[in-house]
Amino acid sequence: MTRRPATVLLASLCCAAAFAGEAPLVRDGVTLAYRDDAGALGAETRGKIVETFFSAYLRQRADFNPAAPDRVEIVVDPGYDGIAYVGDGDGRATMTINPAWLVERPGDTDLVAHEAMHIVQAYPDYDSERTPVWLVEGIADYARDRYGLDNAAGGWALPDAVGPEHRYDSGYRVTGAFLEWAEAAHPGLVARLDAALREGRYAPPLWRELAGEDVDRLWARYARERGDDTDPTETTDP
Ligand SMILES: [Zn+2]
Repeated sequence: MTRRPATVLLASLCCAAAFAGEAPLVRDGVTLAYRDDAGALGAETRGKIVETFFSAYLRQRADFNPAAPDRVEIVVDPGYDGIAYVGDGDGRATMTINPAWLVERPGDTDLVAHEAMHIVQAYPDYDSERTPVWLVEGIADYARDRYGLDNAAGGWALPDAVGPEHRYDSGYRVTGAFLEWAEAAHPGLVARLDAALREGRYAPPLWRELAGEDVDRLWARYARERGDDTDPTETTDP
């Protein structure tokens, strides 16, 4: 059976008042419960969150960790004053979002792609020797870039230049851009790093094993290639 677009539009408009108690959504074997008890976000943002979640999570799960949870909850919580997070323990399949952030920045819904990757990661801990936070967050931003629906709408992008203050372990976008570059040279690198992190066997020598050189040497090559316009050793003076 096919649906005309007009029917789909009507269906998405009809339920604006019923979000708090809405039935879970199921797509390709993954169930999403979306809860916005306070009705803090409008229908358009809600729709973008749901679309971004399914689009990103289904592919991230297939590419990195098919055993990741098949039931996920997104909770819109006006009482949370951060941006968004995924919990640990029983909360590891729950994504909490501060609606105030998205009300101010409605184009930033690809933050859902970053958080969805944290659910896929399912590492044994966060911020330890075997799960360094710079790499955990770097992979999540690499995944936001790769699996997000419309990062440009949020004014979000991986940096294409390397600044003097950047290091491989700066985390988030800086590390994400480095991973993207390294993945292009060594296809499968990020998935292998991710698997090692999940299995608690990540250690720095793994870079040499997977990419042929230590991470600081790999970074140095990346930084040279990307260049740094503000390099103080360079001058245009004669
Ligand atoms: Zn994160």
